[in-house]
Amino acid sequence: MKKMEGRSAHRDPARIETEFLKSAPGIKECPVDDIPEIAVAGRSNAGKSSVLNRLTGNRSTAKVSRTPGRTQLLNLFTVRGGGRLVDLPGYGYAKANRDSQRTWQSSVNTYLEERTNLVGLIVVMDIRHPLEPLDQQLLNWTGVSALPTLVLLNKADKLGYGAAQQVLQSTRSRTASAQISVITFSALRGLHVDEVIDWVRERLSPAPQ
Ligand code: GDP
Repeated sequence: MKKMEGRSAHRDPARIETEFLKSAPGIKECPVDDIPEIAVAGRSNAGKSSVLNRLTGNRSTAKVSRTPGRTQLLNLFTVRGGGRLVDLPGYGYAKANRDSQRTWQSSVNTYLEERTNLVGLIVVMDIRHPLEPLDQQLLNWTGVSALPTLVLLNKADKLGYGAAQQVLQSTRSRTASAQISVITFSALRGLHVDEVIDWVRERLSPAPQ
């Protein structure tokens, strides 16, 4: 409790304050790359919007990204205290046609490969369906590019503790790579929210050396 009080004197650990900045169809329309960004990705229905709502304590954050016409865009948010969060369009939507899947791939791939101020990636998965092929593809890429990546096994409340730990261990061993961390998460219950917020803050506004 004391520790929490000490920290909250400087910052509120319970949420990341964000303000909507803009939606961009691709990297060309993104703002100047002069401040660090963390991107959030995930299969549709894994709970990416719920995770964003939970991390920012702000229902309107993900609502922006769900506005018709914006679901296929990169949605950028300014983070109070420094940096930006970038909500990437969800992938693997069953009814998406080939064209929209291709558009997703090209805008997201280009963003991930070329955005020079990208300092981290959060990948949201449903703990009951971890490491689907598109998740795996994304993680292979982050492995190659050495981008710090945090995998959230979301909806951990849907499994008992033992089962959740089992998925955690098997996902960790299947993604064994120095810059990929995996944790269980529940947007519903708030499990491990503080850990994720710390991970984001450390990368967006590192403590001065
Ligand atoms: P998105 O398509 O990835 O943005 O997913 P949503 O945030 O819309 O979530 C998809 C569904 O999963 C919704 O019905 C959410 O209420 C549910 N959901 C999201 N996170 C959790 C969670 O941590 N636990 C449980 N039980 N349900 C969740």
